[in-house]
Amino acid sequence: MTEIADIALDAERCWEAVAARDGGSDGAFVYAVRSTGIYCRPSCPSRRPRREQVAFFALPDAAELAGFRACKRCAPREACPADPAAGVVAAACAVIAARLEQPPSLDDLGAAVGMSPHHLQRTFKRLVGVSPRAYADALRLDALKGRLRAGERVSEAIDAAGYGSPSRVYERADAQLGMPPAVYRGGGKGMQIGFTIVDSALGRLLVAATGRGLCAVSLGDDDEHLEYELRAEYRMAEIVRDDEIGAAVGVIQAYLDGRRPSMELPLDVQATAFQRQVWQALQAIPYGETRTYMQLAEGLGNPKAVRAVGRACATNPVSLVVPCHRAVGSDGKLHGFRWGLGRKQALLDMERKGAAAG
Ligand SMILES: [Zn+2]
Repeated sequence: MTEIADIALDAERCWEAVAARDGGSDGAFVYAVRSTGIYCRPSCPSRRPRREQVAFFALPDAAELAGFRACKRCAPREACPADPAAGVVAAACAVIAARLEQPPSLDDLGAAVGMSPHHLQRTFKRLVGVSPRAYADALRLDALKGRLRAGERVSEAIDAAGYGSPSRVYERADAQLGMPPAVYRGGGKGMQIGFTIVDSALGRLLVAATGRGLCAVSLGDDDEHLEYELRAEYRMAEIVRDDEIGAAVGVIQAYLDGRRPSMELPLDVQATAFQRQVWQALQAIPYGETRTYMQLAEGLGNPKAVRAVGRACATNPVSLVVPCHRAVGSDGKLHGFRWGLGRKQALLDMERKGAAAG
């Protein structure tokens, strides 16, 4: 999953420029509106969003990396970069975009835009938020997602997005795509999702639901990143902040406080039949206990499917409620947890304590 660019812009001054529709700031930064997914130049004539809906980015490319689309009304990409370094970085972004199949080395990129590799690396990172290499990876992944969303066949989409082989995508799919390519194809189309982010015993807790049930439960340190991941996973869905999302949030918080062993909450998740089976098997593991991936695979009558079981655990979009933290390696060690190994350990400790206390 790509990171949201953490650009060191002076947010207060940016907001003043946006509020004043200051044309002199066009090209210095863009502002993005979370509720609409659109980014604009400061002088855009459109209605002003509420301050808390807005994020600022030094470059249009950084806003797009975070999943925002350019406003058709003010065409922010056409504003001339105010800072020469920003112009160079924008040019580097364009070079990378044009060569997705074979991303240029840092040396080649520097030569193409006329900046020393070292300086380019630093300036790029400062303005876009990630290194040129991570940017190339993200664009390629976006290209793949776009093709999958358009309904292209998985193998053809992988080819066309410039990946050497399907296995490379699948290896990284858990971490980057958030779910296997075949599942991603849906993109949450037609779903209406409300979400909220609250404090919990294990950090910030995002809970998202449709009218039918929970579609995402995730833990993290940074609200923006949590929201970004939700939007990346359900790119085609209509997503709005809804702090009145219902009783589920309290139930999950109580669970994290060790006060509620079981959470029988309705789910509304997109999954393959196999993923569903694995998730049900996870829900059947008693509170305070663990199973190995091998035991889970055997329980499903398919002992060869250990890796696939691991993958299904890693792509679980509703942490805690589908307790993928109760799955461990055959050596008893904790392997991977999308929301951090430290959190997995803390969850297991909390459950063991709770189970022992009866
Ligand atoms: Zn605009």
